[in-house]
Amino acid sequence: MGLDITWAVDWVRRSAESMSEHRVELINLDREIGDGDHGENMDRGFQAVLPKLDDLPAGSTPSDVLKLLATTLISTVGGAAGPLYGTAYLKASGAVGGEVSLDAEAVVRMLEAARDGIVLRGKAELGDKTMVDAWSPAVEAARGAAESGATAATTLQAAADAAAEGAVATEPLVARKGRASYLGERSAGHRDPGAQSTAYLLAAGAAAASN
Ligand code: ADP
Ligand code: MG
Ligand code: MG
Repeated sequence: MGLDITWAVDWVRRSAESMSEHRVELINLDREIGDGDHGENMDRGFQAVLPKLDDLPAGSTPSDVLKLLATTLISTVGGAAGPLYGTAYLKASGAVGGEVSLDAEAVVRMLEAARDGIVLRGKAELGDKTMVDAWSPAVEAARGAAESGATAATTLQAAADAAAEGAVATEPLVARKGRASYLGERSAGHRDPGAQSTAYLLAAGAAAASN
């Protein structure tokens, strides 16, 4: 079974719930190696998109939802994460344009486009201690799952699990991009907030898909 508009809307709603639930935790992670606003930024952006979901015209596709999310995040989140997540969702929207229902292969394409958008925009490489360290393993895990015949929902769950592991794996790393890189070696020993928010957002997508 593919992932349709109902899934996409539910993904955004669950993402907003998760950002609100984990707001303080993300703030605290960002306080350790950044400026302490990541949870607030993300919560504000996802709260801003909620009322707009009710105005989606009939016949909207997952791509339309992702585009609405992208433009809202770009105009409300600010900082590094706003443009990065905005680009991610915009590229994800473009990758599944016009598709009413996403199969496993489309999920991989969507996640890969999101990751590539973040890399294009932020120029971070794997291991630089950024959200890329959650997105990249997510893409690889999704591809592996889809290639072995997983459903769209299971593919997304594999991505979410890999993102969560990727976020944990940022802890010993020294940051080479973003605000945390100003700390140099002192950034080691802390989890990257953007990698953690990525893990929560993909978990929200997987939860919406398994419903
Ligand atoms: P700011 O650092 O401007 O306050 P946020 O706190 O909202 O923005 O977001 C910080 C997160 O953004 C970091 O934890 C990291 O995951 C991500 N980030 C920062 N710079 C980059 C980059 N160049 N590429 C990828 N991700 C980045
Ligand atoms: Mg910050
Ligand atoms: Mg900031």
